[in-house]
Amino acid sequence: MKYKRFNYENENIKNTEESFVCAACGRNITYAGAGSRHRNHCPHCLSSVHLDNVPGDRAADCGGIMDAIGVWVRRDGEWAIIHRCRSCGHLSSNRIASDDSPVKLLSIALKPLALPPFPLESIEKMIGLSEK
Ligand SMILES: [Zn+2]
Ligand SMILES: [Zn+2]
Repeated sequence: MKYKRFNYENENIKNTEESFVCAACGRNITYAGAGSRHRNHCPHCLSSVHLDNVPGDRAADCGGIMDAIGVWVRRDGEWAIIHRCRSCGHLSSNRIASDDSPVKLLSIALKPLALPPFPLESIEKMIGLSEK
């Protein structure tokens, strides 16, 4: 009897669409916890799916996985994520949610600084700190 009840409860969750599985990392995501905003990306890996041409219109036929490739700061100081579609290259900007992984957000923000396209020593030379 216990087993049967467990299954019934799982089906309830599916039917009410309170959760979905992330297409990129496979983790189960609930709609609760994102604050008042509509959830449009995974709070764990921050990936999204290419469904919209303009945010919310569901007009894109692509369906490709959109990687979180960057973070930028809006004029009001709020962070937003740049998503890029793996299939077609479409770029979009999405506001962060209150339960997005802070570690993942920071790692995306720091990645360009961790992998500069020039040797860091050249900065020392530029600002005159290098020992001659
Ligand atoms: Zn994910
Ligand atoms: Zn796409």
